[in-house]
Amino acid sequence: MSQKKYYPLLVTALLALFFTQCTNRSKRSSRGQVIDQKVDSLLSKMTLEEKVGQMTLFTSGMTTTGPTMRDDYKKLINQGKVGAVFNAFGTDYVRKLQKMAVENTRLGIPLLFGFDVIHGFRTVFPIPLGEAASWNPSIAEQSSRVAAREATAAGLQWTYAPMVDIARDPRWGRIAEGAGEDPYLGSKFAAARVRGFQGDRLSDSTTVVACVKHFAAYGAAIGGRDYNTVNMSKRLLWQVYLPPYKAALDAGVGSVMTSFNEYNGVPATGNKYLFDTILRDKWNFKGFVVTDYTAIPEMITHGYAAGKEDAAYKAIQANVDMDMQSGLYLSELPKLVKEGKVKESQINKSVRRILKMKYRLGLFADPYRYIDADREKQEILSEQNKEIARKAGRESIVLLKNKNSVLPLSKDIKDLAVIGPLADNKRELLGPWSGAGRGEDNVTVLQGIKDKLGNGTRIHYAQGTEMTGSSQSGFNKAIQAARQSDAAIVVLGEKASMSGEASSRATLDLPGNQQDLLKAVQKTGTPVIFVMMNGRPLTITWADAHVPAILETWFLGTETGNAIADVVFGDYNPAGKLPVTFPRTVGQVPYFYNHKNTGRPKDPDNKFTSKYIDVQNSPLYPFGYGLSYTTFDYSNLTLSTDSMSVDDTLKVSVDVQNTGDRTGKEVVQLYTRDMTGSVTRPVEELHGFQRITLNAGDKKSVSFNLTKEDFSFYNKDLNKVVEPGKFKIFVGTNSQKTMQDSLEIVD
Ligand code: BGC
Repeated sequence: MSQKKYYPLLVTALLALFFTQCTNRSKRSSRGQVIDQKVDSLLSKMTLEEKVGQMTLFTSGMTTTGPTMRDDYKKLINQGKVGAVFNAFGTDYVRKLQKMAVENTRLGIPLLFGFDVIHGFRTVFPIPLGEAASWNPSIAEQSSRVAAREATAAGLQWTYAPMVDIARDPRWGRIAEGAGEDPYLGSKFAAARVRGFQGDRLSDSTTVVACVKHFAAYGAAIGGRDYNTVNMSKRLLWQVYLPPYKAALDAGVGSVMTSFNEYNGVPATGNKYLFDTILRDKWNFKGFVVTDYTAIPEMITHGYAAGKEDAAYKAIQANVDMDMQSGLYLSELPKLVKEGKVKESQINKSVRRILKMKYRLGLFADPYRYIDADREKQEILSEQNKEIARKAGRESIVLLKNKNSVLPLSKDIKDLAVIGPLADNKRELLGPWSGAGRGEDNVTVLQGIKDKLGNGTRIHYAQGTEMTGSSQSGFNKAIQAARQSDAAIVVLGEKASMSGEASSRATLDLPGNQQDLLKAVQKTGTPVIFVMMNGRPLTITWADAHVPAILETWFLGTETGNAIADVVFGDYNPAGKLPVTFPRTVGQVPYFYNHKNTGRPKDPDNKFTSKYIDVQNSPLYPFGYGLSYTTFDYSNLTLSTDSMSVDDTLKVSVDVQNTGDRTGKEVVQLYTRDMTGSVTRPVEELHGFQRITLNAGDKKSVSFNLTKEDFSFYNKDLNKVVEPGKFKIFVGTNSQKTMQDSLEIVD
């Protein structure tokens, strides 16, 4: 095509794009205006009691015969004094509750139905920490999309996810629910999950409104003990803990949950700095805020509120819109308004935000639109959903060790031992917060292996021991199984209930006598493949020193056995990388890669440096670590300049070659270090990663563009700035194994 012909076409295309965007924008804003008018008109008809009713969220119960609702809650729903319900799902049941709100109340305002859809609804995906090990935010987006489709078919419109709390202490059980220790990786996953849950439009009846949690800094509970106090400077809050929440907001998240901890001496649920100053004023958040479970009355126990009325007062003053489970907004706010302590306009602000969300979800147009029995049957646990779970499972697995290329195993193996209390277990595979997942749906490791192999392999299964017991009565059978076999797969780890909420641990060892079982099997001389299932880093120092192959598989959910078998037998070449540092011993924690240098960084030859005298001072496995069945070589790190101004862009490129004999994926990681700052800066910080696929022998140039954002930090006055000076750039296969170069940023 000649240039003359080409330009008019280009101009026409650009104009068309411009007009479509303008039309979409104006459609959106006129839709917004219509919703605002509807909300205002409804609000003008509401009594104060009905308003605080909208600010009230109660749970449904669950018995073996199905979901149930307390009679007093039913009564309140019928009186229009409940705005939302959680833990209720299933089309028939949700329809019944919705009918009460729509048909029996004066204004017929529909209920909003919420649930903790954290890593899947019925099809369960890897725990979020595991999925973060894929370093592939798009897989988290896909799994969240599936979760939203299944949840909405069963009547839900709201999920209490993503949990984006940065966690640097593996004793904290809730580390399993987030993306690990790094703000950059955490932000990418936060945004991806919001996109997955919310899709393009909340009015689409297959999407749910997401709720980013727990605002803020919950992951820094002292000693890793759940619900504990947090003690943190504002700079650390802004630099490390806030970015993932902000990323979720930028991705359009519709709601935010408060956290149980205090920040700067004030419980989060009454913390004006967090909700007024940061969330509303600085970040301009327009959605609504819900408390965590009974967090309003807990402010009394914290010693921050004098009683129920004071607690409700403090929460509403902090701009917190909805009360989860305590009922204190319902009982206290009307009084507070009548006494003139709280302005009705303050209540109106919160109710407006909640009603707006119900309009955006299309609940006023059709309160039953999320209740779709046909879709429930078709979508839930569909083959397609399970396929995505299997893919997510494979991508979440991290190969920690593979001495002498024990893995992958040949499918022609004659005798294979499959051992361990988790080898043929269905229930634990779900991990913590498993939504509506059921043990019976899951593929065990034993099953996955059997399905992968033909009749030519004899499988010798032995449970070996219990998850937490001390009896060795099953050891002999396990030893026999290993002796008869060419390889032994030993599946050990934590129970699902050992991580998640209220599951802090003071030790990070394999529970019970599982390590003794591993030792006994290893002693047979049969090559051992240790498959780990867990919700947090475990201190597997012995295994690392003695067992030839180790796979970190977290809790992978419904498709566990298939995903693990894909990796064990080489149908999938593992590429996962750790989103969190693995310490050697619990005494090293908190241990994270992006720490400060100190004036005396560790030096093995100098006693008077920052280290322990009774343990090696490196982690067992560093952040970003993970092996492949092939090998990669890094060379030719090049920076586009060695001196640039603040507004310039730096291009960093590196050659990566697959030096092994099979196709593999590598996560190429880029870290930066600001050598001197007006406040001290970490020894390295992740600022880019790319997941590439290379055939055996192939080489590829991988490049990154770094801008101002990547060199900036919060200075003494909490302004985000780039300070001219020397910066180092590191590129490599994990946070410890990198090539490096440097540049100067000038004024
Ligand atoms: C947890 C939240 C959860 C809520 C509702 C609380 O105990 O901290 O993460 O969303 O319960 O189940």
